[in-house]
Amino acid sequence: MRHFNIAIDGPAGAGKSTIAKAAAKKLGFIYVDTGAMYRAMAVYFLDRGIGSQEEEKIREACNSAEITIRHEDGRQQVFLNGENVSGRIRTQEVGEMASRISVYLPVREKLVKLQQQLAKTSQVIMDGRDIGTCVLPDAQAKIYLTASTRVRAERRLKELLEKGLECSLEEIEEEIKERDYRDMHREQSPLRQAEDAVLLDTSQMDPEQVTERIIAIAKERGLEI
Ligand code: C5P
Repeated sequence: MRHFNIAIDGPAGAGKSTIAKAAAKKLGFIYVDTGAMYRAMAVYFLDRGIGSQEEEKIREACNSAEITIRHEDGRQQVFLNGENVSGRIRTQEVGEMASRISVYLPVREKLVKLQQQLAKTSQVIMDGRDIGTCVLPDAQAKIYLTASTRVRAERRLKELLEKGLECSLEEIEEEIKERDYRDMHREQSPLRQAEDAVLLDTSQMDPEQVTERIIAIAKERGLEI
């Protein structure tokens, strides 16, 4: 059977991780969340008091931050210099910082190398912003997942409320718009749909429908299961 990788890109809150996780489980693929790697790098800089504008310090610090990925019970765990930071990366502050530091080439080069290695050794469903365009340009199936800003903000609000965190829909929507703008307009690997990616707008779809659609696309592109 030929090696098969699936690339999923799209803006924040489009449902990438939920869908990729579910599809990976059904297909027996490894799910790789690349956003978690940028978040782990963000934790490294935050812990050292390095600001997102301090390009030179970020460049230097990149050499001493070791990011590794392990899978435990099918769940991705991210380690930063040996410490499991999977819990710490899921805050608003870290997400913001990740988006700001992901514009720097040394950060991207380091993580892209790790991502490409993972995709060589296992069949992966990898999600991020530049997977179909830069990390895995030869992925057998590519999906660009999106949803309206309002729907994405509503999903995010639900998640935060479930965690007991107070937040307004307007605030979240504004933040999503800012993050989209930054991710889509940066110089290095901006978020955009690869030419050979299938566009899926999930605004009116539930997670099961989207997962099934992605599996169907993979089959259309030659995945044998
Ligand atoms: O997907 P997640 O929200 O965890 O990603 C955090 C940030 O990391 C994104 O806003 C984006 O700026 C950056 N990122 C990236 N390239 C990827 C994955 C994430 O630039 N492949």
